[in-house]
Amino acid sequence: MADYDYIIIGAGSAGCVLAERLSASGRHKVLVLEAGGAGWSPWIALPLGYGKTFFDPAVNWKYETEAETALAGRKGYWPRGKVVGGSGAINALVYARGLPRDFDDWAAAGAAGWDWAAVRETYDAIETKVSADGSRRGGGPLHVQDVSDQIHRANRHFFAASDELGLPSTDDINGGTPEGAAAYQINTSGGRRMHSARAFLAPALKRANVTLMTGALVERIIFDGTRASAVQLRRQGRRETLRAGREIILSAGAVTSPRILQLSGIGPAAVLKQSGITPLLDAPHVGGNLQDHLGINYYFRATEPTLNNVLRPWHGKLRAAIQYALTRRGPLSLSVNQCGGYFRSSPQLAHPDQQLYFNPVTYTTSPNGKRSVVQPDPFAGFIISFQPSRPTSRGRIDISANDPEAPPLIRPNSLSTQEDRAQVVAGGQLCQRMINTTALGKLVKSAMDPDLRRMTPDQILADFRERCGTVFHPVGTCRMGDDPAGAVVCSQLKVHGVAGLRVVDASVFPNITSGNTNAPTMMLAHRTADLILREAS
Ligand SMILES: Cc1cc2nc3c(=O)[nH]c(=O)nc-3n(C[C@H](O)[C@H](O)[C@H](O)COP(=O)(O)OP(=O)(O)OC[C@H]3O[C@@H](n4cnc5c(N)ncnc54)[C@H](O)[C@@H]3O)c2cc1C
Repeated sequence: MADYDYIIIGAGSAGCVLAERLSASGRHKVLVLEAGGAGWSPWIALPLGYGKTFFDPAVNWKYETEAETALAGRKGYWPRGKVVGGSGAINALVYARGLPRDFDDWAAAGAAGWDWAAVRETYDAIETKVSADGSRRGGGPLHVQDVSDQIHRANRHFFAASDELGLPSTDDINGGTPEGAAAYQINTSGGRRMHSARAFLAPALKRANVTLMTGALVERIIFDGTRASAVQLRRQGRRETLRAGREIILSAGAVTSPRILQLSGIGPAAVLKQSGITPLLDAPHVGGNLQDHLGINYYFRATEPTLNNVLRPWHGKLRAAIQYALTRRGPLSLSVNQCGGYFRSSPQLAHPDQQLYFNPVTYTTSPNGKRSVVQPDPFAGFIISFQPSRPTSRGRIDISANDPEAPPLIRPNSLSTQEDRAQVVAGGQLCQRMINTTALGKLVKSAMDPDLRRMTPDQILADFRERCGTVFHPVGTCRMGDDPAGAVVCSQLKVHGVAGLRVVDASVFPNITSGNTNAPTMMLAHRTADLILREAS
């Protein structure tokens, strides 16, 4: 006897969307299992609060990669949301659909039905675009706010620099012409974070057929033969098993979905045997195909006031807090990623190959040695940064033991292709051209070490190896594709080789999208819910 029709593992960006869609008709009993807590922290609702959750173990898994020789032997810090809303609850709020070619490439890579024309319809259905003047387009639950009227004045130098270089600009990075300098749109509504927990799960929880269990750490999926039938979890110190009548949907994110598959006996046989797990299915691709955006910040002291001057002094903080309390506007209602956009590092390229960020703020180093957005510097400063959009290096994530609580083995294999190393130089040189314009040069008082303005290509790459970090977009570890020999899930996101089990989250991306990954993840979950419901009817 089944306890629920659908059991969703993980109430993150994808899981919350699924819960809403699968429960909407009232016909299906849906359970959502979340290892973290309910997410009541005010730092989650407050857009700029992500500086506070960045290292907070109460809401953050705080993963670490293996040391990477290509990154000067460094280990990378990987925050992931451990809370209802998942990483979407602690992220920097930039809303980026990605570029049309990203999804056409998904389809070309074997993900039938995920081309741009198809996914654009889903984006249109889930979003309500709110312009700076308050006018609205679309009727979806997810509010995407144009904040171009609120971003700091210092951003104008970035737009002017782009113009000076003859680069395009756009007033809608998610519109028909996404390329060029843009003010980032963010997923907020009424000055509060509009993540999938708020947009999708909260309304769903008003329905009698949806149950959310927090503090529920899923350990493994249980199979009857090759059919996924139940979930084993640990909650309040007790082990429980809950049965699903229709399907189990794994939405634990790109770091954990492959590990739950491996703990359940689906993964590379050698990896499983090493941890004493009897393979149910030798699936070598589970955990492979890991992709991520790496980025680097260049810090400058500024000749005119920036957000540092607003957010560092106590009276500035107080003013910002009062403004937020009274109007739900101002710097606390925004991301620090205020503008940037998709750029081509060379006009010869057919597509943008770099994403840039201009942040009118610089940060100090926090006590644990990591840069933290909590502490703006006590002088005017700004950051320009880039991330190569479509890296070709592929890494892996695996279990380190037959223990759901053991840390993952994250091996990003960063910069392992010549193309990626060339992309780093191209991105660094693009930022260099930007900073060396008269327009942006006016804003530079001095460079904080190192000085990008004078770096050679070799120095750009060497510095990137020393200082780059994740832009927090790991994807691809349960790759989608219709060929079982090369993928983990089919284009309906069913796990190849077993029944009753799908993976629906950022882990199924065949290729990373050119921009930030939250919007594509929510789109993907919405589209998959339609597929599931069509099959159930
Ligand atoms: C600091 C940071 C900044 C970012 N900035 C941006 C940005 O500005 N714009 C953007 O588009 N993207 C951004 N991202 C990335 C984006 O948020 C993610 O790509 C997206 O949230 C991934 O969604 P998901 O559903 O795949 O996984 P998640 O949202 O991470 O959801 C997975 C959920 O599963 C739960 N879970 C995991 N293991 C278990 C288990 N064993 N049992 C039960 N539950 C479990 C987790 O606690 C979590 O709630 C950022 C991410 C971070 C961390």
